[in-house]
Amino acid sequence: MSATAEAPLDRLSLPDAAGHFGPYGGVFVPETLMAALEELTAAYAAARRDPAFQKELDHHLMEFAGRPTELYFAERLTQHCGGAKIYLKREDLLHTGAHKINNAIGQALLARRMGKKRVIAETGAGQHGVATAAVCAKFGLECVVYMGAVDMERQALNVFRMRLMGAEVRSVEAGQRTLKEAINEAMRDWVTHVRTTHYILGTVYGAHPYPMMVRDFHRVIGREAMAQLQAREGRLPDELIACVGGGSNAMGLFFDFLEKPTVRLTGVEAGGHGISRGDHAARFAGGRLGVLQGCKTFLLQDADGQIEGTHSISAGLDYAAVGPEHAFYRDRGRIDFAYATDDAVLAAFQLCARLEGIIPALESSHALAHALVRARALPADKIIVVSLSGRGDKDVQQVEKILAQKVPSAPGPAR
Ligand SMILES: *Cc1c(COP(=O)(O)O)cnc(C)c1O
Repeated sequence: MSATAEAPLDRLSLPDAAGHFGPYGGVFVPETLMAALEELTAAYAAARRDPAFQKELDHHLMEFAGRPTELYFAERLTQHCGGAKIYLKREDLLHTGAHKINNAIGQALLARRMGKKRVIAETGAGQHGVATAAVCAKFGLECVVYMGAVDMERQALNVFRMRLMGAEVRSVEAGQRTLKEAINEAMRDWVTHVRTTHYILGTVYGAHPYPMMVRDFHRVIGREAMAQLQAREGRLPDELIACVGGGSNAMGLFFDFLEKPTVRLTGVEAGGHGISRGDHAARFAGGRLGVLQGCKTFLLQDADGQIEGTHSISAGLDYAAVGPEHAFYRDRGRIDFAYATDDAVLAAFQLCARLEGIIPALESSHALAHALVRARALPADKIIVVSLSGRGDKDVQQVEKILAQKVPSAPGPAR
């Protein structure tokens, strides 16, 4: 935080016109996509200034997505830890089950504004694909979702949900047949159909203007949380904690607090089996500067710059790169990063279900796992707000399988 104190920074001045967050971000795409990105940048800049666009967005966020979401006091989790108060920002209550719908609605409205009738997206776990399929159905847009063949098998239910809502799900057979290859395929499609098609990217990643635009569409999370806590406790929180895949739910929660220096901001990455090569997806614990799929940021890569394999219990955090704005604020000491291992995540998942009657997504359980540690370390007059980015219905079968294999300690949550 000292760096911030020395040189105050206007969070709204970032990124610069070329999409840079300090040394991170930018536009690293094939020449054939430059025109599309410029068109998108201009269209978004105009929409952002247009009160009618904002009004329409707010309307659909309320009526279709279910905003505002509750800020929920987790009383029994708080008692269990015996320290700071834990509040959960309930993005899990949104339509389609996660925060992703905030951005999907925003970009669908933008596609319509640009006169594009076809939408493409890519998805790993399927959550972003489902959110995109839902908004395309609602707004009458053609929808094609690229998904790795391996992911399609693992997330068969989400594939079916997308198809029910009228999306075409295309299987990607290249490479590891997961998210990275699906993104390549989506970019290829975009190059070919750029005049008719908008690409709805699902996190604060990729080429400018996506990291900025997706961040803006999720800012509502933090704006609401600040007002709700003010109404309830009459003050700011002491710490905000969110899981970080690409980083959209975290940036959405954190953004309006960046200039509140008393509020600690912590992003939690996937620690997987622990921090050794190929066993995790904690980019800030072993990654370094590189370029991948549109932007310059922190990447997990080997000495030759080859992207390393990653592992996480949660598909939504299992990616080798992190959003560029996170890397920037980490350098400045404004956002701290931690990681949670699969075991800690499983314990937090079960504890939240058992003590609060809320089954969190495995992604969100990373934030929870770290919040449990922090709540124990802080006194009872402190307040922690956790981003409960999604619900865990999609994860229960996977967790059931994992717990069945851990027979000796199976019944009951780890303490
Ligand atoms: C996709 C997803 C994430 C990770 O994405 P971010 O862009 O880092 O927010 C986290 N939680 C849930 C529930 C998700 O579906």
